[in-house]
Amino acid sequence: MQIVITGGAGFIGGNLVQALAEQPHVTRLRVVDNLSTGDKANLAGLDVDFFEGDVQDAALLDQAFHGADAVVHLAALPSVPRSLQDPLASHHANATGTLQVLEAARRAGGPHVIAASSSSVYGSNPHLPKHEGLATAPMSPYAVTKLTTEAYLSAYHHSFDLPVLPFRFFNVYGPGQRADHPYAAVIPKWISATLAGEPVTIHGDGTQTRDFTYVGTVCHVLTDALLRRVVDPRPVNLAFGSRTSLLGLIQEIETATGHVVKRQHVSARTGDVAHSQADSGRLRALFPRVAPMALEEGTTATADWIQTSIMGATPSESTLDRMRSEKTHD
Ligand code: NAD
Repeated sequence: MQIVITGGAGFIGGNLVQALAEQPHVTRLRVVDNLSTGDKANLAGLDVDFFEGDVQDAALLDQAFHGADAVVHLAALPSVPRSLQDPLASHHANATGTLQVLEAARRAGGPHVIAASSSSVYGSNPHLPKHEGLATAPMSPYAVTKLTTEAYLSAYHHSFDLPVLPFRFFNVYGPGQRADHPYAAVIPKWISATLAGEPVTIHGDGTQTRDFTYVGTVCHVLTDALLRRVVDPRPVNLAFGSRTSLLGLIQEIETATGHVVKRQHVSARTGDVAHSQADSGRLRALFPRVAPMALEEGTTATADWIQTSIMGATPSESTLDRMRSEKTHD
């Protein structure tokens, strides 16, 4: 199998390339990435053909997609606050970029296209858990770009018979996720701050909830979808229905790091949703072999990764145990 990963130098992309490189059926991996938020270091030591550039560059996509069996489209500016500051940049990268990817897929003879949408499309719809059949209600330009991504996938499936599968990722976290830029996600940001003895900033009272999903679990689902060529134009939630408040997350981080989390509260952010929890029925039915990693285990693995790769410490016993057992199960 020849697979293209757009955004493959990013957090989820780098983890996915690594997971796919271990699959015997995968013969060739190509990455298209403009390195706007990603880093080639995420692909260090992996055998990939790297196409540096923008997903809006049709000629570049034609080269990368030639002979491909599948495309996993992850390239995007992945941030709500960033989309509020520069909605057009988000639109170009995320919506126009998706349309270019689908056009290139059509020209390349119709590889399987899996794409990343987001739980943000549920927006202000208060219903919990978030079932894929609920009305979408985007609250940010970012969410609109992701809804557009889904709509284009569905249109290309129905108009051109393109085999597609859109996933709604929830809050993905884990090793490889950056903590050092203004739009960093909450888990790496708070773990890094806590390890450095600095306070974490909580927007609102901390009772807002999220369905955190470990990146290794996301990669299991994506790999299974690729290898079994799962096709469905209707979006599938990629989260397992857990519901953790930010105050609950703080407790997990205290356990994972062994440090007290210092907190400062500021006002809630525009565009943020109060509660997010997936209905995981469709996901579990389509991918019965994938089991989620518990938040406790995932935050420990993330804290260990931040300590070893960013802060230069040696891994904890629990991480070494996990690495040993992962090796045994290979
Ligand atoms: P990331 O920023 O680490 O990865 C995105 C990658 O896309 C980066 O390597 C970046 O350089 C690349 N990129 C951005 N714009 C590009 C362009 N125009 N052309 C080519 N490459 C481009 O983010 P991530 O967390 O790995 O997110 C991957 C995907 O998952 C994104 O589509 C994001 O919207 C979606 N998603 C992520 C989460 C999450 O919790 N991480 C949640 C919902 C959806």
